[in-house]
Amino acid sequence: TRRDPLLTVRGLDAGYGKIGILHGIDLEVGAGEVVAILGPNGAGKSTLMRAISGLLPLTAGSVTFDGADLSRTTPRAAARAGLVHVIEGHRVFTQQSVIDNLMLAGYDAPRAERRARIEEALTFFPEIAAKRHERAGALSGGQQQMLVVAQGLVKRPRLLILDEPSAGLSPVLVDRVLAVAGQLRARGTAIVLVEQLVEKALALADRVYALAQGRIAMQAGAREADLPARLERAYFGEH
Ligand code: ATP
Repeated sequence: TRRDPLLTVRGLDAGYGKIGILHGIDLEVGAGEVVAILGPNGAGKSTLMRAISGLLPLTAGSVTFDGADLSRTTPRAAARAGLVHVIEGHRVFTQQSVIDNLMLAGYDAPRAERRARIEEALTFFPEIAAKRHERAGALSGGQQQMLVVAQGLVKRPRLLILDEPSAGLSPVLVDRVLAVAGQLRARGTAIVLVEQLVEKALALADRVYALAQGRIAMQAGAREADLPARLERAYFGEH
């Protein structure tokens, strides 16, 4: 028998104030699956991620995660359920140590459990593990961005939303972060990846959705032969 997807989005509308941005979004993510969300600037990708993780209220539709209705959730409750959103440009506390930043991210877990989770998260990022007692402000910009991802991992996600993890990173660091995403998938963590670097996203993803003007313009398996042509149509609007 087919198992229900981990995440199911149905008929989702959302926007800012009276401005509707997303219209009738249907989307599914299976357990341990990597799904890339592609589309031109302003298509609504980040808005969709905010709506799924409870940062932005839905105006219609539903979000179901692991059988629970998260249509009216908060980011904190979603994270507790296992749906964690790592936001590009999120700032770390530069005056606090790396470890203290991770302790703050794990606030929901008991102290001993939190320490175990932090050690686990740091195994993915040896370059920041080596600086765990330094101020986060002493890390490079790229390392601070990795720290933000590590903060997400401390919450033990079953589904991790990565919105533009490559933003502002050098090519080498982009590959590092995407390699971590691949390791997470190998451990059974599902990932929703919003990424401007289409080829890198497709190399990692199992499936892809293209968003254009607030609607799903197409969905496909990431290895389908006609994907480049279909993506191009989705980006440039001939359906
Ligand atoms: P990008 O790749 O440029 O980040 P995106 O696909 O993630 O694009 P969104 O950031 O979701 O797109 O933006 C979708 C639309 O919503 C855009 O027209 C944008 O101007 C608008 N928008 C985004 N944030 C807000 C906000 N806080 N208030 C009002 N409108 C917003």
